[in-house]
Amino acid sequence: MNIHEYQGKQLLRNYGVAVSNGIVAFSPEEAVKAAKQLATDVFVVKAQIHAGGRGKAGGVKIAKNLDEVRAYAKELLGKILVTEQTGPEGKEVKRLLIEEGSNIEKEYYIGLVLDSATDRVVLMGSEEGGVDIEAVAEETPEKIFKEIIDPVVGLTGFQARRMAFNMNIPKHLVNKAVKFMSGLYNVFIDKDASTVEINPLVVTAEDDILALDAKFNFDESALYRHKDIVELRDFDEEDPKEIEASKYDLSYIALDGNIGCMVNGAGLAMATMDTINYYGGSPANFLDVGGGATAEKVTEAFKIILSDEAVKGIFVNIFGGIMKCDVIAEGVITAAKEVGLQVPLVVRLEGTNVDKGKELLNESGLNIIAAGSMADGAQKIVELVG
Ligand code: ADP
Ligand code: MG
Repeated sequence: MNIHEYQGKQLLRNYGVAVSNGIVAFSPEEAVKAAKQLATDVFVVKAQIHAGGRGKAGGVKIAKNLDEVRAYAKELLGKILVTEQTGPEGKEVKRLLIEEGSNIEKEYYIGLVLDSATDRVVLMGSEEGGVDIEAVAEETPEKIFKEIIDPVVGLTGFQARRMAFNMNIPKHLVNKAVKFMSGLYNVFIDKDASTVEINPLVVTAEDDILALDAKFNFDESALYRHKDIVELRDFDEEDPKEIEASKYDLSYIALDGNIGCMVNGAGLAMATMDTINYYGGSPANFLDVGGGATAEKVTEAFKIILSDEAVKGIFVNIFGGIMKCDVIAEGVITAAKEVGLQVPLVVRLEGTNVDKGKELLNESGLNIIAAGSMADGAQKIVELVG
């Protein structure tokens, strides 16, 4: 789950991490009111969307007085911002962060990620901040430094200092940088984040070290123990199909292909997507209905797939272990009848109660194409979708 920059900055403040002062605003009037409360004569008006690259796309404006704040707020609110990270459809700006302008001396990058290669939280830092860090990683990987953190010990002072030196933080500011990193690590761990990126981290002319940007992502499996984080969720920023799926506890991720997939088990779901790709098709989603899904859950899953206009065909690939094939069949039939199935449906069932499941499907009167194997099913749906 992602949150907005202004929410991330509030979290950082709570953990003693230095961030620039700012206030969220939902209208031009609120933007001006917010600016009046800031002790500065240079304001920054920042579009709040769940995507980076706002600066380059015109989503970060420097305002020299309250009239400019109002004008930029008017310009940005309601605008569809297309950045490198939003995709071509862009995102509508509905919130702004009105911030004090910083006197930037230099921009750095600092972040924490959960690294699957080492099974550790890794601190990453670079002197090459502000810009596209992915490009730095690709072209000059030696400019990105890493500290692998032992979960028992946490981020040590030694590691944080070594990082500060590697990043060429001015010597007299190393202690401030260390304090920054340790606060960042604490909030990351306490809140079960999966990534946090501060790009840029800046050194100012007044010798402050501040987070000018904050991008958090949280582990959804841990959200049950972070009510405060769940409250920050902005449904406007999420795919409505994904919101619907989360209500029914389905793991659903929208993709940009045209073959809807309904599968049980994350491994089988991944394999199904790979197989579709192998035969030249393109999945419209990842969907794991889980092990013990009920007919109701399957029905909802099927409806969510069908609500996607891009879907030109559906492939149901279920292995009935804990999950029974007849339950799946019932869900598919109910949903197909309720929604009115217009696209080809290929079903491959295997496992517990498979015969009963197939019988139900055959007797349903629906136009269902049975598949003998996963490869067979993938091939069939790819052909049907064309
Ligand atoms: P994004 O990463 O989405 O482009 P950032 O918050 O990183 O958005 O802002 C982009 C750039 O705008 C920063 O690299 C910085 O140069 C400038 N900027 C952002 N906030 C401020 C601020 N409060 N004061 C001065 N400059 C800022
Ligand atoms: Mg940034």
